[in-house]
Amino acid sequence: MAVPVIQQVKVAKYILGKKLTGQKRYPLVLMLEPLFQCNLACSGCGKIDYPKEILQKRVSVADALKAVDECGAPMVSIPGGEPLIHKELPQIVEGIVARKKFVYLCTNAILLPKHIDEYKPSPYFTWSIHLDGLKEQHDRAVSMEGVFEKAVAAIKLARSKGFRVTVNCTLFNGEHPKEVADFFDYAMTLGIEGITVAPGYSYQHAPKQDVFLGRTQSKQLFRDIFGEGKKRDANWVFNLSPMYLDFIAGNQAYQCQPWGTVTYNVFGWQKPCYLLVDEGYASSYKELMETTHWENYGVGRNPKCDNCMAHCGFEGTAVNDTFAHPLKALRVALKGPCIDGPMAPDLPVTYGKRADATAVKIPVSAIQRPAESAEVETHVEL
Ligand code: SF4
Ligand code: SF4
Repeated sequence: MAVPVIQQVKVAKYILGKKLTGQKRYPLVLMLEPLFQCNLACSGCGKIDYPKEILQKRVSVADALKAVDECGAPMVSIPGGEPLIHKELPQIVEGIVARKKFVYLCTNAILLPKHIDEYKPSPYFTWSIHLDGLKEQHDRAVSMEGVFEKAVAAIKLARSKGFRVTVNCTLFNGEHPKEVADFFDYAMTLGIEGITVAPGYSYQHAPKQDVFLGRTQSKQLFRDIFGEGKKRDANWVFNLSPMYLDFIAGNQAYQCQPWGTVTYNVFGWQKPCYLLVDEGYASSYKELMETTHWENYGVGRNPKCDNCMAHCGFEGTAVNDTFAHPLKALRVALKGPCIDGPMAPDLPVTYGKRADATAVKIPVSAIQRPAESAEVETHVEL
């Protein structure tokens, strides 16, 4: 299985429309975080370190759909926290699907069996199941025994009911290429559409700080994993563009385009991206696009971006490169990323030279700006 043709065509049409009208910055994906509360506490998570009153807030159905309409992105990813804790999530998903946008509901799957019948199978709706490895690795990553089995059972259940399903995998320090390859082999046997994979971003607010990969480590790890795949003649399908895979294998010196994946959550529109949580918020999409100092973010431009190779920053760049150099992209798509030879050099570091290098702004407190429409809930489903 792969991304359905209808999705590929609609997204390509959207990008071409933007290019033909000369728009330089536009989102491919809206990350809609309807809450930060979660029923797990993974060691590499940068989303759950908020006080109780923030964890209890919810983005309302009206605000969620307004964000979808405001930014116009053809794909909406719903991470969290754990989105299935949000009682109005079925209405949010239904509203997005009615707009013919492609929704990826990212869940740790613990609550999926309880809530699955609140959703309908559709080409516009995909369960994106968090799975960071085989049993031992995944249960360690989520800091709880038994979650791997629950996630696998949930994948099988969703497939049996005719849903689109992908696996969402983050790789951390200490991964073994062979084990990751074994995991990818196994994931593909579950009948999933594809695997989304990225090196974990080193969140300042994550419970553990020694789990994150450095930039060169990430590139080598992906080369080793792809090399293992070649040896096995593996049939892995990734829910990512071939050029992004080439980038994480160290063959492309891409700059981040954070506007390619915009983020809306209980604080409003997050500047500049899904990963950086201390840079401030905008009250509208227009304000986000017009007031964010985009030039202060990306490889070599900001120390907080040093180790980032996440798809929310670089998939947009990879897609643009695909449109600009289709033959190169076709070659990578057919042959896979290069796994030996010198890596593309990283972009130069300029933040030490910038006059405002120390003025990468941290707002007084992001948590002082809750969305007005957010409501309080106290019960967390486990
Ligand atoms: S399941 Fe996701 S949101 Fe919840 S703690 Fe883990 S990484 Fe964070
Ligand atoms: S490189 Fe881009 S996506 Fe990564 S943290 Fe910086 S701005 Fe965000």
